Amino acid sequence: MPVTTAAPTVPSRTADFDLTGEQRQVRAAVREFAEREILPFVEDYEREERYPAELIRKLVPLGYLTPLLPEAYGGGGSDVVSYGVICEELARIDWVVASVVSVTNSLVAGSVVRFGTDAQRDRWLPGICDGSVLTAAALTEPGGGSDLAAVQTRAERTAAGWSLSGSKVFISHAAHAGLLLVAATVDPAERHRGVTVFLVDPRAEGVEIGDLPMRTLKRDNLATIHFDRVALGDDAVLGEVGRGFPILGAALDMGRFSVAARCVGQAQRAIDLSVPYATEREAFGRRIGEFQMIQQKLADMICRTESARALVYRLGRMKDAGMERCSVEASMAKLTASEAATANALDAIQIHGGYGFSAEYEVGRLLLEAKTLEVGEGTSELHRRVIAEHALGLRGR
Ligand SMILES: Cc1cc2nc3c(=O)[nH]c(=O)nc-3n(C[C@H](O)[C@H](O)[C@H](O)COP(=O)(O)OP(=O)(O)OC[C@H]3O[C@@H](n4cnc5c(N)ncnc54)[C@H](O)[C@@H]3O)c2cc1C
Repeated sequence: MPVTTAAPTVPSRTADFDLTGEQRQVRAAVREFAEREILPFVEDYEREERYPAELIRKLVPLGYLTPLLPEAYGGGGSDVVSYGVICEELARIDWVVASVVSVTNSLVAGSVVRFGTDAQRDRWLPGICDGSVLTAAALTEPGGGSDLAAVQTRAERTAAGWSLSGSKVFISHAAHAGLLLVAATVDPAERHRGVTVFLVDPRAEGVEIGDLPMRTLKRDNLATIHFDRVALGDDAVLGEVGRGFPILGAALDMGRFSVAARCVGQAQRAIDLSVPYATEREAFGRRIGEFQMIQQKLADMICRTESARALVYRLGRMKDAGMERCSVEASMAKLTASEAATANALDAIQIHGGYGFSAEYEVGRLLLEAKTLEVGEGTSELHRRVIAEHALGLRGR
C-alpha cells in the first residue's frame, strides 16, 4: 500500500547534499575564476610575505567578496549553500582569499546585518560590499582564545561614550582592515554577561596594529592589536551592552560553516594534486598509483572529503531553512572537515615523496595552512566538547 507523507518543512538531519543546477553553476564559475585569476600568484605572495590585496579586489565585480550580504547594500543576497560553495572553491586555491570572504560575511558584516542599527548598516555595509573596507574580527587575546567569556579587553563608560583598552593577537586581515569587530567586556567579573561587541575604526587614536610573525600564512600578515583608551561613541556598540555573547555565538555558528566549507576545499585540493601525481610518477617500473598502499591513501582522502562535504552542506541547508541554532551540527562539520584537510595534506605529501617538501609543489604548503583551521574558530577539542556535552544532555543544541 502506498504511504503518503506530508512534505517536510525542514530538511532531514540525514545527509543530503545534492546541489541545485544553479549552485553547480556557481561552483563551476568560482573554480574557473580561482584557477585562472588566483592560483598563478599565490606562491609569489607567500614568498614575498605580501597580503594579496590585488587578488581580493578581483572578487568584487563577480560578487564573490560579499555573497551573503543583502543586495540593498551591494551584496549578493545568496543562499547559505551557495555561499559555502564559494568558500570551498576559493579555499581550494587560496586560504587567505577564502578567509577574507569568510570573516567578512560570517563574522563581521554578517553581524552588522543581524544586530546593527540602520545607521550602522548604512555606515559600514556599502564600503564592505564595494571592497573599499576590509574587515577583521578581533576576539582572541594573549591570555586565551577558547574561553571568550574570559575576554579581558575592557570597555569603560565615559561621559562621551566608551574608553576601550586591551590587546588582541592572531588577528587575520587586521593590518589591512577598515573595520574591526572587537569583543570586549564591561565587567570581567560578569564573564559572558559582561561581553560587549564594538565596531571600531582602526584609524581611531589609540589603536596600534603590529605584526605577528608566523611560521605559515606569511601572506596573511597576521596582526596584534593594542587598544589604549580608544574613545568610542555609543554608536560603536553592536547590539546591546552586555549582550555581546549571543552575537559572537551567532557569528561563530556561521563562521564554522564557512570555515568547514573552506576545509573541504583544501581537502579536495590535496586529492586533485595527488591523483595526477600518482598517475604519472613511476617506481619499480610501475606507476605509483598501481600500488595498493598509494590507492589506500587516495581512497581514504576521498572518503574523508565526501564525509566532511556531506556534513557541511547539510548544515548549509539547515541554515537556509531558517533553523536558528545549529551549533552541534556546526561543530560536527567544522571538526570533521578541518581534520580531513590536515589528514589529506599529510597523505598528499607522502604520495609526493621528497617532492612533497619541494617549494615547487603545492602540497607542502597545504599542510600547515590546513592545520591552522583545527585551531581557528574553535579548536578540535572545543568542538568535541560541544558534541559530547550535547550527547550527554549537558547542553542544548
Ligand atoms: C592562522 C590563524 C588565524 C587566526 N585568525 C584569528 C582572527 O582573525 N581573529 C581572532 O580573534 N582569532 C584568530 N585566531 C586565533 C584562534 O581563534 C585561537 O588561536 C583559538 O581560538 C585558540 O585560542 P588559543 O590559541 O588562545 O588557545 P587556548 O585557548 O589557550 O587553548 C590551548 C589548547 O588548550 C585546549 N583547550 C582549551 N580549553 C579546553 C577545554 N575546555 N577542553 C579541552 N581542551 C581545551 C585548546 O583546544 C588548545 O589545544 C587565528 C589563529 C590562527 C592560527
